Amino acid sequence: MMPAMQPLPPETDFIVVGAGIAGLRASVELAAAGRVLCLAKCEVTESNTQYAQGGIAAALSDDDEVRLHLEDTLKAGDGLCNEEAARILVEEGPPRIEQLIEWGTEFDRAGTKIAFTREGAHSRSRVLHAHGDSTGREIGRALYLKAAAVKPVTFREFEFTTDLLVEDGRVVGIRVLDPAGQLHEIRASSVLLATGGLGQVYSDTTNPAVATGDGVAMAYRAGAEISDMEFVQFHPTALYLKGAPRFLLSEALRGEGGYLRNLELKRFMPKYHELGELAPRDVVARAITHELDLVKRPDAVVYLDLTHLKPERVRQRFPTIYSTCMRYNIDIATELVPIRPAAHYAMGGVRTDLVGRTSLPGLYAAGEVACTGVHGANRLASNSLLEGLVYGARAADEMRQHMQRLNHHAAARRTSVATASGNGQFTEVEKLVRKVQSLMWQHVGVVRDGKALQQVVPELRSLQSQIPSSGDRRAHEAANIVQAGLLIARSALAREESRGAHYRLDHPLKNDARYCKHSVVSGDNLRFQ
Ligand SMILES: Cc1cc2nc3c(=O)[nH]c(=O)nc-3n(C[C@H](O)[C@H](O)[C@H](O)COP(=O)(O)OP(=O)(O)OC[C@H]3O[C@@H](n4cnc5c(N)ncnc54)[C@H](O)[C@@H]3O)c2cc1C
Repeated sequence: MMPAMQPLPPETDFIVVGAGIAGLRASVELAAAGRVLCLAKCEVTESNTQYAQGGIAAALSDDDEVRLHLEDTLKAGDGLCNEEAARILVEEGPPRIEQLIEWGTEFDRAGTKIAFTREGAHSRSRVLHAHGDSTGREIGRALYLKAAAVKPVTFREFEFTTDLLVEDGRVVGIRVLDPAGQLHEIRASSVLLATGGLGQVYSDTTNPAVATGDGVAMAYRAGAEISDMEFVQFHPTALYLKGAPRFLLSEALRGEGGYLRNLELKRFMPKYHELGELAPRDVVARAITHELDLVKRPDAVVYLDLTHLKPERVRQRFPTIYSTCMRYNIDIATELVPIRPAAHYAMGGVRTDLVGRTSLPGLYAAGEVACTGVHGANRLASNSLLEGLVYGARAADEMRQHMQRLNHHAAARRTSVATASGNGQFTEVEKLVRKVQSLMWQHVGVVRDGKALQQVVPELRSLQSQIPSSGDRRAHEAANIVQAGLLIARSALAREESRGAHYRLDHPLKNDARYCKHSVVSGDNLRFQ
């Protein structure tokens, strides 16, 4: 928890919205150039970064090469990666990780050497991990300590950014709803969106409650270009138990030899892909969805089976997963684990160039909220922490230069406006959110179809019109959830092919001639380029 509450400053040099890996890494970089205000909507320890289990990928082992990491990244992206962005990612990754180690990040070691694990679609063992399966938490810890030790960085928790301030086509600051329900305007030379993912757009997601797509929604409202939103990665194996969150069961469990079994307890993956359980994530997610459809029961599950592995090894290699499942009375080392796919990662987001600049001057984006094009149509496992690290630092560097170019700062101004308390709206808003999440899961999920997408877009628009335009924080989140959902649905409808994580029943093949391009949405306009 932060020290006693100070009023929010009316003006600062740099605003960083988000305290996950991208926001923290950027804050460290920006501290050398001026005052940094880094905001989180909950505790700084609540973000997608904190839940990242498997690890962070980089060509650092003796038998690996940057070239191979690039090849694997491009292959996973299914023809749609921005090759230059991906090259920067894999080339700058290793030195950025070495810097993390210098700053105190403790990755797991085998003896004195860093231990690397292998994940699906990687041609080498190149995934660094920490405390077995708590990699994101360990990186977040070290980066937060590093950033908090530098005086110009001020962290504020529970401050909810509602919108961007735009003047003459430039982003000049943000509007913030504080925990007491007061609205503030804060100005800065530039704003970095590092708000993370949007898993909460779906009823089943591995993402924590903070991942409501706020950054994408506010950038869209401000007029920024949004790209590749149809590409949402569904993780095949999330715990599926009534009353339990959709806790992620890392791909590394299958990497260690875990099997997937259907309700008849038969292994089914070999029938769908030659790599069996280690097939690409989208293939496994679709195979599970197909097995579930065959059963025709709304509560059907498939199972992850680790019972043939050494129980000691399972407990020691996956301590967090083991203890979390034990909380729900499942011993993963000796019992079958009920699972289903869940929305996991957004490949698309606010469109940026190679230094985090969006289409709006003064606005930058990095991490999961951004679309640099590194992941193309599908993300290679463990490349997203790396993206936050590499592009968080790059965006910050550009923001520093941007401030030097601006010879003056906008005059400081602060306005405080009481907001509607939202009392009485809660249940209605919550009902709307549930409706959106369930529509998104049913019609814009693992498997999509043109007719259903055509129907869902107006339905989402109608739900959007029912959300109060101002209100409490949850009303703002609800508006963002439906906005992000609409962007995904519109883009999914427009892409009449199947590629990467986007699968259309009515267009099951890839169509390179028409769609080997990025979707770009700006206002009502959607184009492929
Ligand atoms: C369960 C799980 C496991 C994963 N495992 C891996 C893995 O092993 N390897 C890997 O590479 N990736 C993994 N990922 C993906 C990876 O964790 C994320 O892509 C990455 O951490 C995103 O970092 P970020 O800095 O962009 O955003 P986040 O870490 O999500 O941080 C977002 C920040 O923005 C703040 N914020 C959001 N909206 C607002 C607002 N309106 N106002 C103020 N603040 C706001 C939040 O409070 C938070 O501080 C995993 C994800 C999940 C959910």
